[in-house]
Amino acid sequence: MSDLPDDITAGAMATPSYHYDLDEVRRSHARLRAALPEPSEVYYSLKANPHPAIVSALHTAGCRAEVCSPGELQAALDAGVPAGKLLYTGPGKQDRAVEDAVKAGVTEFSVDSPHGLDQLDETARRLDAPVRAVLRVNDSTPAPGQGLTMTGVASPFGADAEWILAEPERFRSRPMARLVGFHLYMGTNVPDEDALMAQFTQSAATARTLADVLGIEVELLDLGGGFAAPYAREGELASYPTLAGRLAELLDDGFPGWREGRPAVAFESGRHLVATCGTLFTRVLDVKRSHGRRVLVLESGINHLGGMSGLRRLPQIAPAVLHGEPGGEPLADAMVTGPLCTPLDTWARAAEVADVRPGDVVRVPNVGAYGLSASLLAFLGHPAPVEVVVDGGRIVQESRLTLQRQPSN
Ligand SMILES: *Cc1c(COP(=O)(O)O)cnc(C)c1O
Repeated sequence: MSDLPDDITAGAMATPSYHYDLDEVRRSHARLRAALPEPSEVYYSLKANPHPAIVSALHTAGCRAEVCSPGELQAALDAGVPAGKLLYTGPGKQDRAVEDAVKAGVTEFSVDSPHGLDQLDETARRLDAPVRAVLRVNDSTPAPGQGLTMTGVASPFGADAEWILAEPERFRSRPMARLVGFHLYMGTNVPDEDALMAQFTQSAATARTLADVLGIEVELLDLGGGFAAPYAREGELASYPTLAGRLAELLDDGFPGWREGRPAVAFESGRHLVATCGTLFTRVLDVKRSHGRRVLVLESGINHLGGMSGLRRLPQIAPAVLHGEPGGEPLADAMVTGPLCTPLDTWARAAEVADVRPGDVVRVPNVGAYGLSASLLAFLGHPAPVEVVVDGGRIVQESRLTLQRQPSN
């Protein structure tokens, strides 16, 4: 978890601001690495936070990157990740996006259907650049104990395992897009090691069955992830003390060549790598009473954090107070909102918060993942927060995203 860097005092701090602590990114990466078997690859999912300093720190630490849009592809390349270390994923890809990725030198794609294979093959043929495809699979049963369900139910992600079994000929290698393995991603934010292991066990078994039916030798087995992390509340990263050993045994059983890289085994993570590196500092704009309740209005709302909370998908978020006059008792049952003109812009309906005043700074921990880039930045036209990169306890970079209208051609 990151505290204020040494060279800032709360009073003088620019707010709203996200602070990303690169030392914490490296610590989280080392923890995840220790939970995974060797040899294996970790793909950083840029979706969690595409900030170039974070992508670059993870690349330097040894991660590959998983991208699923033109913007994420560019962000990864700009941060110095070579195209050959990227996996391009996503359930629907524009022809132009695939073409630009192949032109940029990307050679590994996750495909979700026979059409996805054809699209990739045609593009690769046109550009005379052969590529490798992993087939994303929607397994037949939902895995137990997962957060967001991404498998075993109707879904845009992947091809149903039953479909592949019923019509294997439709999923075979194409001349310029060779099928080299499978991509399974069963669920996200799974803190329990047994539940996570159950997912990987099911995924490995499915991949084994499908490889045999399709008659391919698996070169890349992407078992996905699901590694958990706290979000916008105090807390520690989940730990998986015996996972590496259990995974090694699982792979020895189903894919005995994995220790020599046949197949290469890969995992993916966004939140576990970057959640704890990020802190949002934002100010209290107003404090008042309404119908007997205290109401706090902050300068950040769903435009700066957790835009999806407007869709009731995220837990309530309780800001932790950094700097306020220690005036009185904590306020129980306070309503905490952002500044946007919609009742959806609510952090908490009944939170316990310190007795803050307008102008005080509050601190929201563990928002390095799904923070700013997962928010409704364009909605209502407030400026974006400053993004501050901290390395070795010092500020090394400050920047701010802007949205600008430009002619479209
Ligand atoms: C979102 C996503 C991830 C990252 O999920 P986290 O919960 O942030 O680790 C990884 N792989 C795929 C395919 C995803 O869609």
